[in-house]
Amino acid sequence: MSDRRSGVGNTANGFAYEEPLLFERSRPGRIGHSVPEPDVPRIDPSSVLPAEALRDDIPGLPEISEVDVVRHFTRLSTWNASVDLGLYPLGSCTMKYNPKLNERAARLAGFAAAHPMQPVALQQGFLQLCHELTMQLAEISGMDRVTLQPAAGAQGELAGLMMIRAYHEQRGENRHTVLVPDSAHGTNPASAALNGYTVRAVPSGDDGILHPDAVAAAMGEDVASLMLTNPNTLGLFEEHIARICEIVHAGGGLVYGDGANLNALLGKTRPGDLGIDAMHINLHKTFSAPHGGGGPGAGPVGVKNILAPYLPTPVVRELSGDEGEGFTLDYDFPHSIGRLHANHGNVGVFIRAWSYIRTLGPAGLRRCAEMAVLNANYLLARLCSAYHVPYDRRVMHECVLSDKRLQDTGVTTHDLAKRLIDFGYHPPTVYFPLIVPGAIMIEPTESESLEGLERFADAMLAIEKEARETPELVRSAPHHTRRSRLDETRAARQMVLRWQPEPRD
Ligand SMILES: *Cc1c(COP(=O)(O)O)cnc(C)c1O
Repeated sequence: MSDRRSGVGNTANGFAYEEPLLFERSRPGRIGHSVPEPDVPRIDPSSVLPAEALRDDIPGLPEISEVDVVRHFTRLSTWNASVDLGLYPLGSCTMKYNPKLNERAARLAGFAAAHPMQPVALQQGFLQLCHELTMQLAEISGMDRVTLQPAAGAQGELAGLMMIRAYHEQRGENRHTVLVPDSAHGTNPASAALNGYTVRAVPSGDDGILHPDAVAAAMGEDVASLMLTNPNTLGLFEEHIARICEIVHAGGGLVYGDGANLNALLGKTRPGDLGIDAMHINLHKTFSAPHGGGGPGAGPVGVKNILAPYLPTPVVRELSGDEGEGFTLDYDFPHSIGRLHANHGNVGVFIRAWSYIRTLGPAGLRRCAEMAVLNANYLLARLCSAYHVPYDRRVMHECVLSDKRLQDTGVTTHDLAKRLIDFGYHPPTVYFPLIVPGAIMIEPTESESLEGLERFADAMLAIEKEARETPELVRSAPHHTRRSRLDETRAARQMVLRWQPEPRD
């Protein structure tokens, strides 16, 4: 093994050795717990379990002391990039800074220790929080009703399109097409297809945004909905959105807004006021609930009143009049699309979002949007002299560059992303949106200081200089990590040979 691959000689984190697996550290008889002897008789598993449920080929768990487990995971945690360590150019789409107060709220015993199947009378505090959160999200988005059930943006799209489908079916209309701009997030066409719709792509204009005449040309009696992301995936505001909504509505369709990211709009404009009929809002993006590695998230969906009969059940409702005070779960929606999540959804995410919204308040949320937009435009201004800017306009919460101007150096977006790791940054989103070859998408978010933005911009400019002067340095990066660039074919082979000794070469 070379020094780099084993991590030997790398003292960046003060540990100059390979980190073995817990299984490799296991020593017979070593323990990390102290549990009292049971005071009930031991039973022989074979006397209570069917024979086919019994296995004798399980190698056992690692036997290891508590302090060794703690050190193992603490060491591994220092190998990670994290938003608590520095600027994270993936932005809110992956992880914006999560204020610690929200974590504290989510851990309050009254929430964290509650059982989801407690009777409604014992869930009043939690139901009140759900009710308030739906009201806050409705206010922020300009929608009439909100369901908290969808567990992610993609499931929110599914839910929204199911409601749109139910709406058209109820009216006896057979509409089987969904329009999706070519700049859309990949989940949009996927959700439409999953709902049984045919997807028709609508080309965006040379300026990167959607134009009314393109929508009018694609519109027809078969169109159930247009799905629109605003700001779009280039970080540009869809300026013609009001006119586009009018065109879709005039043709009998509804407009689905992809509101996964509201960072740039908070307190500035409301999708509902612009003509959007249904939209999801990712609490794990704009509303700061931490996510990563696939979850947990929450993609509440807001709808206009015309879609309210189809909301997923149960719906949290505040009691009124003779019913007394408090909150209840309402199942009385005969046209509902049904339930989308067991119990209430990803509850911890709701609590964090509620806490975030209440901490900032309306003025704070508006300032959050202003700072997110200012920061993205500041970075763009610092970087546009060195990097190609495919759509050179004022951006919203994120900006898109490309490697086009580096072509003569042989350095690509991929290399740049790897070299940023040497400067202490996680790579930004790369090769997306698909309509920009070699795209580099940067979303700094509202939390970064001017000094933090300057450091990141300096790193990007230094790499551009390296690409011109010492391109090999960039092409072989990263150089300061425990593992360098993986050979993807080799990595795949090693997955297959996982438990066999590594071939030496
Ligand atoms: C993140 C995102 C989605 C998907 O949301 P998930 O919670 O990851 O399913 C959809 N559209 C846009 C624009 C997004 O940024």
